[in-house]
Amino acid sequence: MAIINQMDNSANTCSTSSIDPRHQLVILGGGESGIGAALLGKLKGYEVFVSDKGIIAEKYKAELINHNIAFEEGGHNTERILSASEIVKSPGIPDKNELIQLVRENGIPVISEIELAYRFKGESKIIAITGSNGKSTTTALTYHMFKTAGFDCALVGNIGYSFAKQVAEDPKQYYVAEISSFQLDDIVDFSADVAVLLNITEDHLDRYDYKFENYINSKFRIIQNQGPGDYFIYNLDDEVIMEQIQYRKIISTQLPFSMKQEVKKGGYIKADQMMLRIKEERVSMSIYDFALKGKHNQHNTMAAGIAAYILGIRKEKIREAVKTFESLEHRSEHVATVRGVEFINDSKATNVNSTWYALESLNKRTVLILGGIDKGNDYSLIEQLVREKVKAIVCLGLDNKKIHQAFKDVVPTIIDTDNATDAVKSAFRLAEKGEAVLLSPACSSFDLFKNYEDRGQKFKAAVREL
Ligand code: ADP
Repeated sequence: MAIINQMDNSANTCSTSSIDPRHQLVILGGGESGIGAALLGKLKGYEVFVSDKGIIAEKYKAELINHNIAFEEGGHNTERILSASEIVKSPGIPDKNELIQLVRENGIPVISEIELAYRFKGESKIIAITGSNGKSTTTALTYHMFKTAGFDCALVGNIGYSFAKQVAEDPKQYYVAEISSFQLDDIVDFSADVAVLLNITEDHLDRYDYKFENYINSKFRIIQNQGPGDYFIYNLDDEVIMEQIQYRKIISTQLPFSMKQEVKKGGYIKADQMMLRIKEERVSMSIYDFALKGKHNQHNTMAAGIAAYILGIRKEKIREAVKTFESLEHRSEHVATVRGVEFINDSKATNVNSTWYALESLNKRTVLILGGIDKGNDYSLIEQLVREKVKAIVCLGLDNKKIHQAFKDVVPTIIDTDNATDAVKSAFRLAEKGEAVLLSPACSSFDLFKNYEDRGQKFKAAVREL
């Protein structure tokens, strides 16, 4: 049965004259984005009610109580939810969810947290970054450029900080936002001044009726409301994006980037130099000066550089930021070198495409730690790289049959483990001086770990124990 915190309803409806008691905002899901939406809704005078099927974390509950926001946990009060004027749905809740279907049947508009944030962001500008892989890295790097240049900006979105909360509590002139397809699914007017689309590969198909086209459409929502004064930065080397570009109506200015061809406007890499060509002045920079290594990061760096340059960041500041950026935890993160063996934590690689890039950027032979929950992986995509660079595979998962099947004729040694300590010890035994041990699992972590962060942290702890 739902536990309801009712004590504050009166406070919600009568504390200030700006409150519009007709606008009942119900927020489904009491996580980072749900709480952010609740705080912003409350600030803007809506009557807010948060409902979570599970238990809301203590820190979030405290925020709701402090702001006199009504909530329930451990179940949903359907009647109250159906009396809403508008629903904010947390990105984790699928559309198939029975309650959401009921909400839709009742004709109640459903929006995402970024839509609510957009409604109240005022004159500020949004740089919205999406794609199947590289979102967090590119968002953090873009933000680093804005900070280096001294801009008034915030890092928000999927990267872990609620966009709506930022707008409510500490508004900025620029929001650098990591946007997932789930957040894009429920936008209405949300529009980015600068939209970045990094790549599109199959992912999350379980949420899109197993139809790739639905997922592609979701990603392209990033440009659906853009106007002629906005910019669209995208990857010219991505086949899916390129095919789509041909028949989609794009109103904003296109600024593509490529590692294979020169572009008139946008960015490219030629003879190991990154060139940004946007205004009269050009920016060039050696890829050897990039703090982030690997081909994937050359894409990410170009995308961030174009976004920063178009919004007026000086080229010296872009160069400085590219050199000084510190890579994010769990993304091809160097952990330690133990007796000549380098350990790399790429726990965030939860699909085959990410693992492909991690392997591609390695310049030594490696023992690869692979496995977890397979979201429909096609391992043939990495077969060639595994053949060239991987001397042994250590599986870290409960069910490793598919990995054995895919690589039994490709690598001579494949062993099974079911915890980070055993995986690290086994990999260390197999690796020799000058080689690497790479955790880049190509799978989700939920069979053995809480999440990818937990997997990465346990991996790093096991390395430190060696
Ligand atoms: P996201 O936020 O989209 O999940 P991250 O920046 O967290 O992306 O990176 C996730 C993984 O994807 C990293 O471990 C890295 O190996 C890989 N990766 C990063 N950038 C790219 C890219 N542009 N293309 C393909 N893979 C990438």
